[in-house]
Amino acid sequence: MAYVIAPPPVIALPIRDSADLFPVHRIFCVGRNYAEHAREMGHDPDREPPFFFTKPPGAVIAGGGVFPYPTQSQNVHHELELVVALREGGSEIALERALDHVFGYAVGLDMTRRDRQEEARKMGRPWDTAKAFDHSAPCSAVVPASAIGHPAEGRVRLELNGQLRQDGDLAQMVWKTPEVIACLSGLFTLAPGDLIFTGTPAGVSAVQRGDRLDGRIEGVGELRVEVV
Ligand code: MN
Repeated sequence: MAYVIAPPPVIALPIRDSADLFPVHRIFCVGRNYAEHAREMGHDPDREPPFFFTKPPGAVIAGGGVFPYPTQSQNVHHELELVVALREGGSEIALERALDHVFGYAVGLDMTRRDRQEEARKMGRPWDTAKAFDHSAPCSAVVPASAIGHPAEGRVRLELNGQLRQDGDLAQMVWKTPEVIACLSGLFTLAPGDLIFTGTPAGVSAVQRGDRLDGRIEGVGELRVEVV
């Protein structure tokens, strides 16, 4: 038997200091997981359980590089985030066992068509065109947890053309990594290769063609992206 069209390519992220690759299965994202960012978007962070949205694996820009400014938007924001890369899946994963499912961590950008998101919120429509568009998930190399452990604190900083825009700390996450994994696994059967973007600290802002984005998460790594 043969496929009637070429099967889709495997999307993969580099592993830092290695020739090996991390194959990407799905991309889940957590919304409003830092209190100050929830407030800047007009929400009360104290009264919301975590909620999730997704991006297709093909949205990855592996290792960073060039982000083509998307069509049909005049307001595209950067959201710098810790990315969790799963080595093992499951459903109803217990909180105490959640971190055992993690292969490693990366630095990601949840690029967002903010104008389309605001329109979707107003009209009660889904977020896909705002969040899941082509190239919307630049992501650094994955660093194995065996090398760095499971970072629960550390600065999360994004510079836009050398100017500091986002400056938070992993310790400010409303829902911590184990809680995110446990909660998400109650909604989806997680699988090896799944990535979870864990939310962004305050300071999101619009990008323009020609901008340089320089994201760093202390203890995890860095991600550089140029908007074209
Ligand atoms: Mn986000």
